[in-house]
Amino acid sequence: MASENIAAISTGLVASGVAVIRISGDSPQKIAEKMFRPSGHTAVKDFEPNKMYVGEIECGGFTDTGMCVYFKGPKSFTGEDTVEFHCHGGTAIAKGVLKRTFELGARPAVNGEFTRRAFMNGKLSLSSAEGLIDIINSESESGVRAGYYLYREKLTVKISAVQDKLLDVLSEIDADMDFPEEDLTVSSTETAKTILGDCEREISDLLKTFRTGRVLKNGVKVGIAGKPNTGKSSLLNALLNYDKAIVSDIAGTTRDVVEGVIDISGVRFYFSDTAGIRDSEDVIERIGVGISEKILNESDLVLLVLDASDIDGEDEKIYSRVKDKNCLVVLNKTDKTSVKDGRADIEVSALNKTNIEQLKQAIYNKTVGAGIDLNGDFLCEERHYDALIRALEKIRNALSAADKVSLDLIAIDIKGAWDALGEISGKTASEEIINNIFAKFCVGK
Ligand code: GDP
Repeated sequence: MASENIAAISTGLVASGVAVIRISGDSPQKIAEKMFRPSGHTAVKDFEPNKMYVGEIECGGFTDTGMCVYFKGPKSFTGEDTVEFHCHGGTAIAKGVLKRTFELGARPAVNGEFTRRAFMNGKLSLSSAEGLIDIINSESESGVRAGYYLYREKLTVKISAVQDKLLDVLSEIDADMDFPEEDLTVSSTETAKTILGDCEREISDLLKTFRTGRVLKNGVKVGIAGKPNTGKSSLLNALLNYDKAIVSDIAGTTRDVVEGVIDISGVRFYFSDTAGIRDSEDVIERIGVGISEKILNESDLVLLVLDASDIDGEDEKIYSRVKDKNCLVVLNKTDKTSVKDGRADIEVSALNKTNIEQLKQAIYNKTVGAGIDLNGDFLCEERHYDALIRALEKIRNALSAADKVSLDLIAIDIKGAWDALGEISGKTASEEIINNIFAKFCVGK
């Protein structure tokens, strides 16, 4: 099928050392022949694939010294012939190179169009493409890992194995339908139930990894709560290791939500120091208190900070509001007094930075989980989770109906489960799902 040449700046339009302009389609070399003058003796049409050639790149009114590389389809990212120009990363140069490709017949690529072509040409699955978006967008090590899990087709392989088992059951049922006189039904039903049971277990196990998978991909939101002056801002500073929050002796200073970000063992944690929860007469402070309620409700973990030198009924009130959430009670200012508190999970001094590393570890254990193997299988996309939930429901329907109805009737549910699983790799995904995924890409990828 004919494929138009599309072109884009793959490195984004920012001044940088190098910019990459990519053309993919039926004949990107034809465009390169007209706009690249190699310094050596090899003509563009004779370029060896995957090899960089130095030369002059035409940018319209001027030329830039850069490099050109040709990837021959199907052994290219998109599966088509592709040419890349590596030029100096000034925005005028990159734009000039791109404009010249348009003058020579390429059209501007839309968001994710190179990757979409790779998907259409069978170079990667839909979930692998989603992994690629995650890798590009991720700011944390664990986010990149989660993206690579998908990009390297680990999930697709796992899901395809389950799909193969479902196909086995379907062919067993077909055989049973084709040769009813051989009385296969009893053994076929038992075999089908065993295989479906396996599939059910595998899907359930994967579904259980979703909470951690999301944390690895999206990070963890931590809200810091406690009455005014217990040392919340100071504790945030100690965790962040710099003075971002305003520390003050006057109760109610922290009106705005102060946010800070740290990585603990590669996972990203977003901290919000909230205004102290209390009934306030001050309107501005009350707005702050309102925000803190919202933050606390949206947090994956609440750090309740108690001041060891000043514990009273107000702490108890706040404690009773947060104790049912995923909560870690931090007894602060332990440098001032040796008073203990039965609710405390950990004792620290924000002022002296005592036990701050232990606090970080406790925060990690309460959210990501202690001893989690980050190289394991993790679900991290809502879309995959939804598809697996639907597949599981169909498999459970089939299992519960297996003894009651004829096998051809349970085949409908099994086929439904197979289809739901196929949405993950993209084999059965609708145009709308595919469009939504590629719309999240940037131009040039
Ligand atoms: P917030 O209102 O809860 O955010 O409390 P701040 O962080 O503003 O701290 C209130 C006061 O307590 C400030 O004077 C801090 O210096 C002091 N403070 C905070 N943490 C500690 C600590 O661990 N030990 C001692 N001795 N003072 C602290």
